[in-house]
Amino acid sequence: MTKERGVKREEWADLARNLDWTLSYVEDKEVFPPEMSGSPWLPQTAWAGWDEPYRTTYPEYVATQYEKELSLAAVREALGGVDDFKKLPRTWLDALKLHAATLPLAEFAAVIGNLRAARFGRHSAWRTTATFGALDELRHTQIPLGVMHGLVRWDEQFDWTHRFYHSDNWVAIAARHMMDELLLGANAVEFAIGTNFVFETGFTNLQFVALSSLAHDVGDRLFEAMVSSIQSDEARHAQIGGPVLATVALHDKPYAQYLLDKWFWRSWMLFAIVTGFAMDYLTPLAHRRQSFKEFVEEWILDQFLRSAAEYGLARPWYWETFIAALDHYHHMVYASAYTYRASVWFNFVVPGPDERAWLREKYPTSWDAFDPVWDRISDRWRASDPGNDLAVHGTSIVAFCDLCQIVLCGGTPARNTAEVIERGGRKYVFCSAPCRWIFEREPDRYEAHKGVVTRVLTGEMPANLIALLRRSFGLTQDSWGKDAFRGEYPWLKRESR
Ligand code: MN
Ligand code: MN
Repeated sequence: MTKERGVKREEWADLARNLDWTLSYVEDKEVFPPEMSGSPWLPQTAWAGWDEPYRTTYPEYVATQYEKELSLAAVREALGGVDDFKKLPRTWLDALKLHAATLPLAEFAAVIGNLRAARFGRHSAWRTTATFGALDELRHTQIPLGVMHGLVRWDEQFDWTHRFYHSDNWVAIAARHMMDELLLGANAVEFAIGTNFVFETGFTNLQFVALSSLAHDVGDRLFEAMVSSIQSDEARHAQIGGPVLATVALHDKPYAQYLLDKWFWRSWMLFAIVTGFAMDYLTPLAHRRQSFKEFVEEWILDQFLRSAAEYGLARPWYWETFIAALDHYHHMVYASAYTYRASVWFNFVVPGPDERAWLREKYPTSWDAFDPVWDRISDRWRASDPGNDLAVHGTSIVAFCDLCQIVLCGGTPARNTAEVIERGGRKYVFCSAPCRWIFEREPDRYEAHKGVVTRVLTGEMPANLIALLRRSFGLTQDSWGKDAFRGEYPWLKRESR
């Protein structure tokens, strides 16, 4: 607790958060231009009631963060050595490699988004809270970079995670397509609704709770401590989203609904891959407590719909598509990514009979469609030598969605939901109706972007797969993804040859 001298906290805190005054020699619009502050652009009085549910002062912020740093440092001191990581299940390390690449610099981009709100948010308390948010996100950049830095010398793939965002790897292109828009390019209103309300309150806040308990079960106490330390910051600054959404919904409900629908879909896809892979494939069976679908149903759906309803907003128009995707989407992407695993920087596992029985039980309506895919992959391994990954691998270049930049994995193995449109003499392909809808709402924002296929067609990237992996995706034979067990599984019997 901070030392109180003279004036008590409750006597100054409210005054200190409320520092807006009436501007006299400039227009509000010059100080808070709509391009930066966002729309609807409302007079200052419309924001006067802005109120954050979680009040923090700077002395309190610093004292709390210091305590959190100390306790994380203690866990890191005890459990942060390379030898501690070596004891973890092999496939869990692959889930870590996925996070080590995607997390730190996305957090850094979130520093920028928060700083924009810290300058262009329309209430002084919003700006103050966003300033704490920026400090939080800087911490979330440094913690995973620091925690996993020792692994760089141990493992080529961990080393590669630090290059991820600076590469033209297809996952990095997809991640930047979303993160640059959400965190670097968004104005203060869109940032608050897209990031604070949808992405953080809707997804990461709960995902971090789930991930830390998963890490606990797997025995990764350092990752558990790291993620829960980060989550406690997110839980505070995510609350900027609610009061901003309340004001926007009051003055322009269709726009509020649009931002909600857009960012829910985009967040869902990223989350389905990062968390879906970790929960249903990369966590060893013995440590799984619930499926990814069960987790989303229990933690995301009710909570998200309830909080949208609080602001008078409806469920997204594509809700049925989304519910169907819960049974299919991450299984589609995982099977595709396994088949093209050399295009990423972490390893994959073939689900064996026990894992497949578990997946069938958890996904009774959809697993039948995926089981034959794994039969075929197992058969190919049976016919190939252990470690000969490229014999059990895709060879052509696959197509990507012109909105999310992820492989066209909408729908089911029998019925892909890809859609094509033509615009300005160019064809655009989308993995799903919501991705197409987002593109068509703001074509100026998206149409000039070049995905992998366009870059190949224009000669900016090589058409040969191995050349593409090496030259454009920045991978080498040591760093690219392989079968985590070299195709050697106790249940996979090879005929003696
Ligand atoms: Mn963060
Ligand atoms: Mn955040």
